[in-house]
Amino acid sequence: MASDTFALHHVGKVYGNGTIALQNMDFTVAPGQFVSLVGPSGCGKSTVLRLLAGLEQPSQGRIDRPVLERCDQLSYVFQEPALLPWATVIENVALPLKLGGQSARQRREAVAEVLAKVGLTEFGTAYPRELSGGMKMRVSIARALVTQPQVLLMDEPFGALDEITRGQLNGELLSLWQRQQWTVVFVTHNLYEAVYLSSRVVVMAAKPGRSIADIAIDLPYPRHPDLRTSPLCNRYCRDIAHLLHPAP
Ligand code: ADP
Repeated sequence: MASDTFALHHVGKVYGNGTIALQNMDFTVAPGQFVSLVGPSGCGKSTVLRLLAGLEQPSQGRIDRPVLERCDQLSYVFQEPALLPWATVIENVALPLKLGGQSARQRREAVAEVLAKVGLTEFGTAYPRELSGGMKMRVSIARALVTQPQVLLMDEPFGALDEITRGQLNGELLSLWQRQQWTVVFVTHNLYEAVYLSSRVVVMAAKPGRSIADIAIDLPYPRHPDLRTSPLCNRYCRDIAHLLHPAP
């Protein structure tokens, strides 16, 4: 397997308390792909992300990871924005660069660029308490992007947002992805979001956690927001829903 591809080969993961989180999981993500993982709670989606990030080791099987020049070329975004409440937007976004030892000037330039990308230029001196949920998530995404990652691992990043904000951020994420060509692995419970965003959707089942389908979303990019409510998108969602909830 090429070293620029993420791959799980027959991976099993048993946690210390005996929970079998994954069994015989096969999964690949080629460079520049946008792949979503969908499945019931507890089927091992977050475990897959942590394995891809190297935060967990597999109990069985093998994992290939792309060789990255710097460890901060892989960024993680969580459902909770997890911002420092006492720090401004600029300070929150600059944090990974500060931890990485970049100079104040380098940080200023990089933060200004990424805040412009996520539409927050006007809010650099605001504190998290002054921001809406959608804006806080933009800050969290800006903090993930400021290190210029090649790989984005996103664990239900928009799960706590209202539908309208989620739709907006979906569109913004997609247009950034098309420009930057990151490799994205995206966990969601929302089938419409998964189909709208992804080049592939991997469907998982629980007990034990495993992949049960790998569906190519054969719809061209750029994707218009109307696609979310189109018959084509509905058809993919219905097929995935049938896999998740097979008829008795
Ligand atoms: P998902 O993201 O699909 O909800 P997770 O990967 O979080 O699933 O969890 C898969 C299974 O592993 C669940 O049963 C969960 O309770 C268990 N699990 C996750 N992390 C740990 C851990 N650190 N220790 C023990 N069990 C865990």
